[in-house]
Amino acid sequence: MDLQTLSYIIVAGAALMMIILERLFPYTKGQKLFREGFFYDFILYTIVQSYLLGLIIFGILNYIKANTDLYNYSVMENLGIPVWAQVIFFLITHDFYIYWFHRWQHNNALLWRLHEAHHSPRSVDWLSGSRSHSFEILINQTVEFAPIILLGAAPEVALIKGMISAVWGMFIHSNIDVRLGKLQYIINGPEMHRWHHSDDEGREYQNNYGTKLAIWDWIFGTAFYPDPKIKKPKQYGLSDTPEFPLSPITVHDAPPDKSGRVRHFFKVIILDIKAYFKQHYFAFRKQKDDKYVGE
Ligand SMILES: [Zn+2]
Ligand SMILES: [Zn+2]
Repeated sequence: MDLQTLSYIIVAGAALMMIILERLFPYTKGQKLFREGFFYDFILYTIVQSYLLGLIIFGILNYIKANTDLYNYSVMENLGIPVWAQVIFFLITHDFYIYWFHRWQHNNALLWRLHEAHHSPRSVDWLSGSRSHSFEILINQTVEFAPIILLGAAPEVALIKGMISAVWGMFIHSNIDVRLGKLQYIINGPEMHRWHHSDDEGREYQNNYGTKLAIWDWIFGTAFYPDPKIKKPKQYGLSDTPEFPLSPITVHDAPPDKSGRVRHFFKVIILDIKAYFKQHYFAFRKQKDDKYVGE
């Protein structure tokens, strides 16, 4: 089996496991699997958008590699660094970048517009982390993969890193009552990242900017980690921006009769597709509508 197929199987298996664990050990009780935006999060953000952006980003990077002499400075290959060490090196360096870029997005009105979509889900779960404006992903993944391609990392590094990012992204958003204990001082998990998505009074989401590692938040003074037995977020989303275009219905709003339910199902998919495009357009609305709230 090739590495690409194996990585798809691992990501799909991890998703299935998280769906099951969310049912068994929910962090926030009462969240539903087919909640608002399930279809656009799954079909459009996770599959279609990721695929198309992958073509664009790797197309650009491979073009640069083929048409410039940048690849001649192939540090990784020349130094003979093993694949596992290359993966760890790129995981840590990219995570450091993403901490600061993410923090900047929360403190800059223009960049916040590209990040709003990611904070819009009112149900934070295994799938909701995929909801990110395509421009945000374009910036972050170009920065993520440019050094991997241009520093001449082994071909499997991009694939392994992509797989780890997908699984870790699902994990930190998952609605699982995980208790990482002291590990939460180093690696990031749902306990801290769900607080980043909280929409409670006091704006706790101006904290916990880390993605894979929580260590940056502890070093740079942005960690928020209350005991989940005592305090959990009451709600998630963007209550400051009620005009953010979420999908108006979910499959749970279906009428009780059978034929009506099928029609309703397709209606949800169509409204979800419309909401996806509205969310992209919303980032470019006129300045006067800005509801950005800084630190
Ligand atoms: Zn954020
Ligand atoms: Zn998030």
